[in-house]
Formats: sequence, structure tokens, C-alpha cells
Amino acid sequence: STILYNDQFVPRKEGKVDIEDRGYQFGDGIYEVFRVYHGKVFLMEWHLDRLQRSIKELYLTLPYPIQQIEKNIYALIEKNSLIEGTVYLQITRGATSRNHLFPTNTNPVLIAYTTHLKREEAVVKDGIKVSLLDDIRWLRCDIKTLNLLGNVLNKEKAHQEGSSEAIQHRGDIVTEGCTSNVFIVKEGVLITHQADHFILNGITRMYVLELATKLGIKIEERQYTINECLQADEVFITSTGAEVTPVIQIKDHLINQGKPGPITKQLFSEFENEIKRMEKV
Ligand code: PLP
Repeated sequence: STILYNDQFVPRKEGKVDIEDRGYQFGDGIYEVFRVYHGKVFLMEWHLDRLQRSIKELYLTLPYPIQQIEKNIYALIEKNSLIEGTVYLQITRGATSRNHLFPTNTNPVLIAYTTHLKREEAVVKDGIKVSLLDDIRWLRCDIKTLNLLGNVLNKEKAHQEGSSEAIQHRGDIVTEGCTSNVFIVKEGVLITHQADHFILNGITRMYVLELATKLGIKIEERQYTINECLQADEVFITSTGAEVTPVIQIKDHLINQGKPGPITKQLFSEFENEIKRMEKV
């Protein structure tokens, strides 16, 4: 397949990273995952906005203008004949002799590649079991950085516990999943952690909040406790990959008697309609 290396399209094998790239040594960089449906990028502008925010928060610079990055993403999709899948894009602070201080001359390195990904219809319909784990990450979870060790360790632990995701918490407060945002529904009200530095403000999270507003569902963006989560009528997670996925079990505790709830289903069905509409545009 073809990858994007800075502004060049090269075969996958030619995408070589320097051993002193700061992304490799320090996790000093940012990334973005775009979802492709029907050969088109879903919520492209939202992802590009978040990408620019991540860049700014880490005092990075784009290697070239965002409009050109957008064009190159589309060219990459075209070159790889991608219909359904993802585009992974990352930008690091580049390579210099190892030193924690920022290099004076930054040459950021951008790479992007595509993956084929089918929608997981069964998972999305039936729901998943999740673990409940201590959020051990740093305090800038709002930035989509390459530093994912906290997420990686908890995702692995969840897997070993037979779960496909973990709901993470700081003390008593539920933050988010390892690779997703968490929503709960109580008495018809949709509740999710506010977008502050404890969570990544997911594109799917924002999109679902917009859908909920359209549907007239009451929303509360606020902190909520583990107990509120366990006692919720419905729980679901959102992400670019998982879309809207019902959570039917947290550890040994069933949610809604182990079945996806009505508001979750309603939001998912709206989400799906939007994807179907993309086919025709
Ligand atoms: N939270 C974390 C920690 C994530 O890694 C992700 C995505 O992988 C999300 C939330 C969901 O974000 P998005 O909906 O933009 O994919």
C-alpha cells in the first residue's frame, strides 16, 4: 500500500523513521484517526480542528498547511482505493540528538496510512462487557498525544479480564474508556463527563451530543460517580472505531438486564442513518 511521508506518497516499505525521532523516544507527537465510509472521511473538519488544537497544545508546528494535509489525506484514500476504513495520521517533533529540551530547529515528521475496517455490526447491536479500572494517565488527557501507555496498560488489563474495554475512574469519578468516551442514561437524561483535561473530547462524543440535542434528549455534561454509572439505566461508549456501542455489563454487574437500552438504540440508529446518507452525497 501507499503511505504519506511528509508530503510524499511512497510505498509502505519506504516509510522509515529515524532512531532518534522524538515520537519514538519521548512519545513527543500527536495523532488523529479519521473514519472513512463510502470512500469519504466522516466529520473531516472536526478531526482537522482537533489535530490543530493538539499541535498548538504541544507547541508543535504543522510541516505544511492544513489545507494541503486535507488534500493529501484524500489523495491517500484514492491511491489505496479505500472505501471503508481509517486513516491514521501522526506528527512528531522530528529527529535530533536526544535531549528533553525542544530542538531549536524543528522539522516535524508527518506520516499517514490507511487501514481497511468493516463496521462491527454484531458488537454494536449486542453490546459489550467492560472492566472498571483506575485511571492512571497524566493530567492532559485532552490532547491526542502519542503517549498512550496508561491507555495501553488498562486496555490490556481489561482484555485479560475478558472485557473489550475499561471504564476508567479517578477516585470516585468516571472519566472515559481507554479508547472511547463513556455516556450514561438516567431517567431519560444523557450524562457524560465534561470536556476538560481529564478526557479526550471525542469527535464521536461531540457528534452524539449534537444528535441528542436534535432528538430533544436532555444532556448533562458533568462529572458522575462510579455508583451513578453502575445504577444507570443505560451505558454506552463512543469512538471513531466503535461508533455508538452499548455497554451491557460492567464487571459482574448487568446494565439494563444485559440488553442495549432505548436511548442508546435511538442514538445509534440516527448515527447509522447519517452514515447511509453519506453514500448518496
Ligand atoms: N478517549 C480516548 C482516550 C480515545 O483514545 C478515543 C479514541 O480513540 C476517544 C476517547 C474517542 O475519540 P473519537 O470519538 O474522536 O474517536
